[in-house]
Amino acid sequence: MIVKIIKCLTDNYSYLIIDEKLNTACVVDPSESGPIINYLENNHINLKFILNTHHHYDHVGGNKDLKKKYDAKVVGYKDDKQRIPEIDIFLKDQEIWKSENFEAKIFHIPGHTLGHISFYFFNEKILFTGDTLFSLGCGRIFEGTYEMMFKSLNIFKNFPPETKIYCGHEYTLQNSKFCIKYDKNNSNLKKKIELINDKLKKNLPTIPSTIKDELECNIFLRSEEKIIQKNLNLNNSDSLQTFSKLRDLKDNF
Ligand code: ZN
Ligand code: FE
Repeated sequence: MIVKIIKCLTDNYSYLIIDEKLNTACVVDPSESGPIINYLENNHINLKFILNTHHHYDHVGGNKDLKKKYDAKVVGYKDDKQRIPEIDIFLKDQEIWKSENFEAKIFHIPGHTLGHISFYFFNEKILFTGDTLFSLGCGRIFEGTYEMMFKSLNIFKNFPPETKIYCGHEYTLQNSKFCIKYDKNNSNLKKKIELINDKLKKNLPTIPSTIKDELECNIFLRSEEKIIQKNLNLNNSDSLQTFSKLRDLKDNF
């Protein structure tokens, strides 16, 4: 199984999970169909499934065309069946979805939207986090509460550290500027920022990240750290309050 990163729109990433033995693939969050079809046609791969992390247009925009062209099935969260175009297969929290050699555990991670889910391909240790966990950031809270988003992000803390993270957007550089502002003595973060700049200079994606990197560097996963609370002038605050403050500051950053 390999993951191919497909750039879409201005800063979106869609992902093809390719079974090289069968020449079949799933696509995660096709923002638009054109770049996906190009890759599939050039490489003679048949698309079987369209996996959506949430209903926003920049994650489902290609559903209709791709379903029509490949007769692929659209897979998404059960409670978003009115909002995910052309949905065929309805997923629940904690369910294991399996077809052919594709096998993923589903995590319901509300906050950015109420129906947001994550796909964890546990055999390969690859995780698709949509607009909930970004590299060095997290999604805006559009439909949920701070507490929902905080809980959703905390779920990822227990994943194996080497798990690769594939998120919905190339926001890493901008996110890094926010992290370093309130976590300026974090040496792991400084190293990560150098690597990010190297990659972007070569016009390469900064994705995938890993759980280990995010635990060490992503300020939204570090709200229990006393040093962060101190840098925000929050005394006697708990990690949820700290997280909420960080999310507010980032909205206006
Ligand atoms: Zn979104
Ligand atoms: Fe998005």
